[in-house]
Amino acid sequence: MRLEVKALTAGYGAKLVLDGVEFEIPPGKIMTLVGANGSGKSTLLKVVGRLLKPRTGCVLLDGKAVHACDTAALARKMAILPQLHHVSGETTVRELVGYGRYPYRSGFGVLSLRDREVIEEILRLTRLVPFQERKLSTLSGGERQRAWIAMTLAQEPKILLLDEPTTFLDIRSQFEVIELVRDLNRRCGITVLMVLHDLNLAARCSDFIVTLKGKRIRHIGTPREILQPEILREVFEIESQVYVGTDGIPYCVPTGSVKENGNENGENQL
Ligand code: ADP
Repeated sequence: MRLEVKALTAGYGAKLVLDGVEFEIPPGKIMTLVGANGSGKSTLLKVVGRLLKPRTGCVLLDGKAVHACDTAALARKMAILPQLHHVSGETTVRELVGYGRYPYRSGFGVLSLRDREVIEEILRLTRLVPFQERKLSTLSGGERQRAWIAMTLAQEPKILLLDEPTTFLDIRSQFEVIELVRDLNRRCGITVLMVLHDLNLAARCSDFIVTLKGKRIRHIGTPREILQPEILREVFEIESQVYVGTDGIPYCVPTGSVKENGNENGENQL
């Protein structure tokens, strides 16, 4: 399933956040959006996930505008996990995963045999079987995030949108989450568009990284193409040293902030 974003402008009230954003995600790939705080990453993900209407331009799924799609039909193709998500802490893992079946429910809201089979399969895939009867309030941050991702998977999406899925997690849980995402991508062919703060995690799990700055996309490339001191200086206004690990994956060590004021557009986002 091909996802394309064309000539997109979006914002809130008088504030323009994205201006002329255009890119395409090759099917079955993981693409990660990076940029400074306030650069519009979440806004872009919300527009792609149809939580926010673009002012102009469009998001196309196999050539069809998502903003014109039937809601349930779209939810069977694309799932979004926003940064903030709430349900009662009394909800069990199994119930939460069941909520992801809403695009397939009949009018009576009863789980079908197929719904129950999918829920079982996803609990297994996300290694949540031992936690299925636990209430969300009793889980660690990493377990809870796995449960939320499992809920989005219950929609059986071809495209998964994740907004900072590793925020507030300890380092092991961060790795567990991105390893789960990578595993789902490899095993089920799910295309992933996500926002990550941590450049080194992004480099480890992404096929492509997209940088956002000044309302626009500045770069799209492989982790090795994007993790370059000049690019990090331009996008994040940091000085850094970049190395390549023995596994061939690049990583950066930030060494300080860029000292000049502003950039070539006269903007300073830090
Ligand atoms: P990022 O995800 O890169 O941190 P966001 O997309 O969250 O950036 O925000 C981009 C800009 O839009 C910021 O200036 C932010 O304050 C503003 N913004 C985000 N959400 C809203 C909203 N609901 N109403 C008004 N302004 C918003």
